[in-house]
Amino acid sequence: MSTLALHTPKKPVEYAGPGTPALPAPLRELPAGLSYRAERVAHHGLHREYVVPGRFVVLIGGESPWATARPEECLDTSGQGVWIADYEVLVCLSCGLDCT
Ligand SMILES: [Zn+2]
Repeated sequence: MSTLALHTPKKPVEYAGPGTPALPAPLRELPAGLSYRAERVAHHGLHREYVVPGRFVVLIGGESPWATARPEECLDTSGQGVWIADYEVLVCLSCGLDCT
């Protein structure tokens, strides 16, 4: 069964000051073994592509295997992703942003 999992980092996400809005709810459930990094994504890539609120970086087993630390810094402009978890989840191969 799928579980709705938001990964809680060991260290708290940087505090952005009072009035910081809560993270949007994840758009979808992820298969077992995958979770979302509980970190807001402002945009994707150097062209600042729009990212729907509720899309996050996908973690595998709680870890980030992606080459790029944050979607905002992603250099992948191919627009193509890679299917993981038996073709259930489409992510950016460089930063792991959920593009399903
Ligand atoms: Zn990316």
